[in-house]
Amino acid sequence: MPNYTFNCEKCGVFTEWHTSSKGNKQYSACPSCKMKSKRVFAPPIVYKVDARVKQIESGGKTPKVMKRDQLPKRLKKSPVSTRPWQV
Ligand SMILES: [Zn+2]
Repeated sequence: MPNYTFNCEKCGVFTEWHTSSKGNKQYSACPSCKMKSKRVFAPPIVYKVDARVKQIESGGKTPKVMKRDQLPKRLKKSPVSTRPWQV
């Protein structure tokens, strides 16, 4: 499913999802102010991660670094091999 990212000068970046490709779409109307917005070429997944990191940073939080023994026990790797035939 192709998605298109546009940048509204007033409201910022928004993304539209299309079930079928309508060719090379360069402009779209902003969902908030209906202004003509130009397409930007930002990888949507990377943009999502960036937005989340920005949100954490603006909240004054830094990502917590955890040591192995601080992790919840169920996330620990089981010492018992699931493939005992593999040495
Ligand atoms: Zn707008």
